Amino acid sequence: MRADPAPSLSDAELRRFGRHLVLPEFGIERQRRLKAGSALLIGLGGLGSPAALYLAAAGVGRIGLVDADVVEETNLQRQIAHGYAVLGKPKIDSAEARMLDLNPDLVIERHQMRLELENAVGLISQYDVIIDGTDNFPTRYLVNDTCVKLGKPNVFGGVLRFDGQLSVFDARYGPCYRCIFPEPPPIEFAPNCAEAGVLGVMPGVIGCLQATEAIKLLAGIGTPMIGRMLIYDGLDLSFNTMRIAKDSDCRVCSKASEDIVLTETVMICAAPVGGTIRAEALQGRLDAQEPLIIVDVRSPDEWLTGRIPGSIGFPKPELEKALAQANGAPLSCLPMDQDIIVACQSGMRSSASIKFLVAAGYDPKRLFNLEQGMSAWPGHVTF
Ligand SMILES: [Zn+2]
Repeated sequence: MRADPAPSLSDAELRRFGRHLVLPEFGIERQRRLKAGSALLIGLGGLGSPAALYLAAAGVGRIGLVDADVVEETNLQRQIAHGYAVLGKPKIDSAEARMLDLNPDLVIERHQMRLELENAVGLISQYDVIIDGTDNFPTRYLVNDTCVKLGKPNVFGGVLRFDGQLSVFDARYGPCYRCIFPEPPPIEFAPNCAEAGVLGVMPGVIGCLQATEAIKLLAGIGTPMIGRMLIYDGLDLSFNTMRIAKDSDCRVCSKASEDIVLTETVMICAAPVGGTIRAEALQGRLDAQEPLIIVDVRSPDEWLTGRIPGSIGFPKPELEKALAQANGAPLSCLPMDQDIIVACQSGMRSSASIKFLVAAGYDPKRLFNLEQGMSAWPGHVTF
């Protein structure tokens, strides 16, 4: 877990970390362990922002940052390591500057790239503790599988809407992420924060807890969240911890390290129904004044940001409720004898809505999903 001998602390470090040093459970020896320790932070977004700042402030000696993105205005509702002054600049720049301002003795290693199959082992093998701040399933599985293969603790966090999750996956002592979630869900059932939204402070809470776990692991104090999953409900403000068990047949952590073959995780759709239509083709049909109906299943707030002329706003939850209540009869605004184009922001919710329409008796041959949703519609304001 740490390089020995632990380095000594400078006078400035003794002053800066004074509040740690007076903690009887922590003291100078744990602080030296932190300084000898290293952490790899994958993603400098909502989770990575607070985690990066607290790991730097706590005195972790060496921190690797993996991120390829630039700062966008929509990030600032939750990604507090960045700000307006650095819009359009790499996130790694703003995070590094803030972290060094908190702890000038920190060694930061910049990895301005995405974590991918080709670089995962090379990056993860260099650090004691890995912090997963990603928001997509392929990277999350890659982080997990690589950590299992290399015997590294993976401090996992996840957030969506008003909820958060946290665990430490260390397959040497407990389950890995795949023991609990062997494969990613079908793509339309795997909403991300851009689609489903997130209260900005949620990743702040979970990111801080990830930093706490990483600090505990590096300093060697407390009981890490291995074999347990924290479920945080922000609306009720409840924290529940459930035990999670190792799967003796897990396709990754039941194997010996050399037998674990890292693979790309491909997100697949549940068997799609209906057809698809591209934005240009839909525009062509509109220009030709073909009779068709366009249903936009986004939320009313999203609808206000831009819409296809003539489209009907019918948020997905309301559409599903109306179809259930209609009990097999066609909805008055959606006659069954016309082509119906279903649109959402990215094409995921609309794909799920088409399944509901088919289940309610609509002909799949007359249903078309707008490919890539409104994000591909010309002139649409994306957010
Ligand atoms: Zn496993």
